[in-house]
Amino acid sequence: MVPWAGAIKIKEVNMDNILNKLGLNLDEETKLTNDSTFSFDCHKGLSCYNTCCGDLDIFLTPYDVLRMKNKLGLSSAEFISEYTEPVIHHESKLPFLKLKLGEKGSCRFVTAEGCSLYEDRPLACRYYPIGFGIYKNEAAAGSDFYFLIKEAHCKGFEEEREWTVAEWRKTQEIDVYDDKNKVWMDIILNKKMYSPDLEPDEKSLKMFFMGSYELDSFKNFVFESRFLEIFDVDDDEQELLKKDEVELMQFAHKWLQYALFRMPTMKLRGK
Ligand code: SF4
Ligand code: SF4
Repeated sequence: MVPWAGAIKIKEVNMDNILNKLGLNLDEETKLTNDSTFSFDCHKGLSCYNTCCGDLDIFLTPYDVLRMKNKLGLSSAEFISEYTEPVIHHESKLPFLKLKLGEKGSCRFVTAEGCSLYEDRPLACRYYPIGFGIYKNEAAAGSDFYFLIKEAHCKGFEEEREWTVAEWRKTQEIDVYDDKNKVWMDIILNKKMYSPDLEPDEKSLKMFFMGSYELDSFKNFVFESRFLEIFDVDDDEQELLKKDEVELMQFAHKWLQYALFRMPTMKLRGK
């Protein structure tokens, strides 16, 4: 299983670490579906308000990086250098990014009033207090499941407001993020990434990192290298990629599918 969301204190992206931390066995009782209900509310009057925005690992998706760097008015390189640190995924060896915390272990975006990036907060913060995993075994590949991240300090679970998982996802705009990250999620879940013999070479890891997070470098790669001599990208699409960063990000993910797995997602010139 591959975990993604769940902003909790873990040392590496590994499902067992997450579940151990929560003292949780994933069984039919603890696993949630879209229709499962839970009581929770998070608001300023709670004694725990803002205490959860520190001492944690928040992993970032490509769309998180795009939204946050634009909110801060930074290039992707500036955002990555100033606000993130790399972490290697235990099983696939892929390099991901997580938010770099401040000196005292708090998220650098937390203020007395709450999250200063609230409209553009990352996916993991949107999901919290729900954790989310995806099966990657043959039988259930691609199907999602959820679980509650019930940490002792969180008073939100004592509140009466009731949600279904689907309602929580909607109110947090999680579907928007899922849609933008869909191809990238398929890449990180590709079973080729989890072969025990896999030792990805440095070139593949660099391609993965650029295609995932370094949007400015990827744009230069497309428009200032021999990329357009090799791949057939029509004029309209080129114009779109120049002016729309979400399109560019999703194009990068299609290119990664071609470059890493030789999937037919790119058209070669002359073929
Ligand atoms: S990004 Fe915002 S919501 Fe997420 S941990 Fe930081 S302050 Fe909290
Ligand atoms: S209720 Fe939970 S999520 Fe909300 S501020 Fe308190 S600890 Fe954080």
